[in-house]
Amino acid sequence: MVMDKLGSSLQDALKKLVGAGRIDERTVTEVVKDIQRALLQADVNVKLVMQMSSHIKERALKEEVPPGMNPREHVIKIVYHELISIVGRSADIPLKPQTIMMIGLQGSGKTTTTSKLSRYFQRKGMKPAVVCADTFRPGAYQQLKTLCDKLNVPFYGEEDNPDAVGIVERGLAELEKNDVLIVDTAGRHSLEADLIDEMEQIHKVAQPDYTLLVLDGAIGQQASEQARAFNDSVGISGVVISKLDGTAKGGGALSAVSETNSAIAFIGVGETPDDLEKFEPDRFISRLLG
Ligand code: GDP
Repeated sequence: MVMDKLGSSLQDALKKLVGAGRIDERTVTEVVKDIQRALLQADVNVKLVMQMSSHIKERALKEEVPPGMNPREHVIKIVYHELISIVGRSADIPLKPQTIMMIGLQGSGKTTTTSKLSRYFQRKGMKPAVVCADTFRPGAYQQLKTLCDKLNVPFYGEEDNPDAVGIVERGLAELEKNDVLIVDTAGRHSLEADLIDEMEQIHKVAQPDYTLLVLDGAIGQQASEQARAFNDSVGISGVVISKLDGTAKGGGALSAVSETNSAIAFIGVGETPDDLEKFEPDRFISRLLG
């Protein structure tokens, strides 16, 4: 499962409540300490962890236990709510005809996510199609074409033509009979001026309904810096955090994105086209807590 380590550490912390005879200050302090440790190991920001710890402590010791709930269940519910508040809200990408523009740094998982997203819409009964406007990374065209062919998703690209803007124009016209048009764009190693310029030009031509930023979950807390920078340049409607299956820093990336007021739309949990999940904070935290 995603973020196994964080999940099992949190579950272990909560298990202490089962053994405890009474839920007193000592027990709560001990459990909160374990939760702190688990979150810090998952790269969640120290300040955020401290804030959350004091909320849990205060609520667990002061709030009255609601009728029909035992003190242990009450503490678990508090922890659950506090964890949801640090991962924030989710962005809803509806099932309707639309154009989606994918952006992100090179290696973030943009191309893979583009194919996953087309698979997602295909499974929901929609007719996605993909335009490859990544004319920067060698091999991007072939990679995306192969993925789309396997999924029977219509694909438009022009190998060896560096004119990304022209490709988007022609691609969207050619694929207009499909209902969800996904435009994969090129990344760079950092958010350089020429990347911003290219994104802005493509954005103007594609006029996307949604612009999704793909962030590699392994960057942890740095996710907030990237989300802010991309949002300031072209504006983002939502974030996809990729590679959450392979990093211990996922908690950091999730909470850092929420800190910027950006919302997470999807998470990537593996390399195959089916390894994409719609991000639902309550479901995500419930699964984490087991
Ligand atoms: P791009 O440069 O942003 O287009 O990045 P790619 O889509 O080519 O992805 C870079 C690498 O990350 C590839 O080897 C992908 O297989 C891998 N990758 C992408 N998403 C995930 C994910 O959710 N989980 C794992 N484990 N690997 C991923």
